[in-house]
Amino acid sequence: MASQLSNGRGPLLEVSGLSVDYVTEAADVRAVDHVDLEVQPGEFLGIVGESGCGKSTLLFAIAQLLSPPAEIAGGTVVFKGRDMVKLTDDELRHIRWRDYSVVMQSAMNALNPMKSIEGQFRDTLEAHDSMSRKAIRDRSAEVLHLVGIDAVHLKSYPHQLSGGMRQRAMIAMALLFTPDLVIMDEPTSALDVVAQRSLMSQIKDLQKRLGFAVIFVTHDMSLVRHYSDRLMVMYAGQVAELGETASIFDDPLHPYSKGLLDAFPSIRGPRRPLTGIPGSPPDLARPPSGCRFQPRCPVAMAQCVATAPDLYEVNGTQVRCLLHAEAPKDAAAV
Ligand code: SF4
Repeated sequence: MASQLSNGRGPLLEVSGLSVDYVTEAADVRAVDHVDLEVQPGEFLGIVGESGCGKSTLLFAIAQLLSPPAEIAGGTVVFKGRDMVKLTDDELRHIRWRDYSVVMQSAMNALNPMKSIEGQFRDTLEAHDSMSRKAIRDRSAEVLHLVGIDAVHLKSYPHQLSGGMRQRAMIAMALLFTPDLVIMDEPTSALDVVAQRSLMSQIKDLQKRLGFAVIFVTHDMSLVRHYSDRLMVMYAGQVAELGETASIFDDPLHPYSKGLLDAFPSIRGPRRPLTGIPGSPPDLARPPSGCRFQPRCPVAMAQCVATAPDLYEVNGTQVRCLLHAEAPKDAAAV
């Protein structure tokens, strides 16, 4: 999929060796550990994992929105040819909203409760462009219309909108400048299942029409099943599996991916019992020896306690599991 989506200019986003530490008095805790990923123009990448697996921290690191005690400990985030890690706050302010935007988990927290939707759109537009009042009003009405909300709601305050409408207003705000990349952190998690599915369809439709790329973080694997081109499964701050979504759903290689798939109902597939994954992700201040998933893995082997798996490549999918250690990634590339 990646090569089909490439426009010949290379990836839109290239993350290499990205690590994030939570710096505490007791010790530095590595929440994101040497993550590599690429996003092609117009691609939809899903990032899944349980709470505490580092997916939201990774997303905030990519968007350069980390705040203490979290800090980037190493690696690069090259977006449209520039390493965002090296940009100043002013340079970042210039490209945020214009070139990439972020949709947060809770619009209620992200939107200013004291301002109308129109006021918030106006602030964002005026901070990045000099536009006439009429042009601002027209663009605000246009993006609201894009997400299926009548322009009459430009006058509404966040508390006057339903949860689904607030999330859609946030997405409209993210599209004010038609950015190349929209980064979304569980934007549907506060909604009921029907509203979730409806919002997902709308995001996908907008993405196809406007051509922007999406990075979409969720703990619910079934949510991105029909919308993402590729999927990255994260566990304990590391990439557990990365490949085409269809391939991971048809044949998950990592035992953690299998567990996640069994933990959520499929909306279209055959009915099957939900089993889930016993236990919880490790304390990253004291990760287990060897494979980090080993204490919860139903097929762990003796060697999994002593040997930390690398990422191995199997038919185009990367997987961090010793069951697939015959084909180390570096060797496969030679
Ligand atoms: Fe399970 Fe071992 Fe693979 Fe880790 S390396 S996921 S413990 S089989």
